[in-house]
Amino acid sequence: MLALMKLKKGKGFVELREVEEPKIKDDEVLIQVMAAGICGTDIHIYHDEHSYWPPLILGHEFSGKITQVGEAVEGWKKGDRVVAEPHTQTCGVCQYCRSGRLQFCPQKRGVGWGQDGAFASFVKIPAHLLHRIPDNVSFEEAALAEPMAIAVTGVLERTRVEPEDLVVVLGPGPVGLLSAIIAKAEGAAKVIVSGTAMDVPLRLKAARKLGIDYIVNVDEEDLSEKVRSLTGGWGADLVVEASGSEKAINQALEIVKRDGRVSVIGIVGKKNINMEWDKAVFKAIKVIFSFSSSPTSWERGLSLMATGKVKISPLISHEFPLTEWKKAFGLCEEKKTVKALLIPS
Ligand SMILES: [Zn+2]
Ligand SMILES: [Zn+2]
Repeated sequence: MLALMKLKKGKGFVELREVEEPKIKDDEVLIQVMAAGICGTDIHIYHDEHSYWPPLILGHEFSGKITQVGEAVEGWKKGDRVVAEPHTQTCGVCQYCRSGRLQFCPQKRGVGWGQDGAFASFVKIPAHLLHRIPDNVSFEEAALAEPMAIAVTGVLERTRVEPEDLVVVLGPGPVGLLSAIIAKAEGAAKVIVSGTAMDVPLRLKAARKLGIDYIVNVDEEDLSEKVRSLTGGWGADLVVEASGSEKAINQALEIVKRDGRVSVIGIVGKKNINMEWDKAVFKAIKVIFSFSSSPTSWERGLSLMATGKVKISPLISHEFPLTEWKKAFGLCEEKKTVKALLIPS
């Protein structure tokens, strides 16, 4: 089969290669990949800026159907439509594994960076990581189950959305936009998504299509003023930081109300940033950091898709065959995509 591989450590070294189809173990299933999303992580691995164990096949956001079932697997059969948590090679015995928080296991070597991933016709996955795709959700939509789970983990599980909240999402990437629509679906009164001028043609346009209440281009409009005017001067109940920008992080402290909540999902990509620490103290802000996805967030995310409360299709901006991966990676890097999918099969 054709597979997009990172061949060795260093910048670049990503190539299409003809490789053997994976051979499954007793507790695994083989999945024919129907759609696979390109994520910032894939771009970071391309540039040697993320941990990975080459040579391996990239790709951790995917949907597909089961084509082969291991001897010891129960409850799954050939033809089942599935997505899978990427939490492979967890130890099973540490405090995180034993309490169902697989994403934090120090032994974890996830699909697409720690072992072969989904930018190929087939991927093998341990059956305990599978989730069923609801009948009314397409393979393309289901390929966003992983970023969806990340948004659910950060915004609904680790932080909270309260009824009638005013929620501001900073950064209109896929996880930011998903955070905004799930906040709305879970009862927020008003949701604002903010981005910069470069986000206007695609990502802020997608926010509009998703029915987000207010869309702010911070290069042209004063976000703080907007929040003040919508809250009688009090500030936002919840700010979701999904941009990883230092400027936006300081803006989060500015626009959140006293005793308000900040949910941090964005990665800044550098060791230190300047932030107004005392402002956060004096406002008694509850800052909650989040990383990766909990097993429970997958079912909740898929359920939000199935009920139609969260529409995914406006987020899918591009689809490419595997052979056009270079073009696809280039567009992602230039932020000229919302979510680009590779279709390997
Ligand atoms: Zn991802
Ligand atoms: Zn563990």
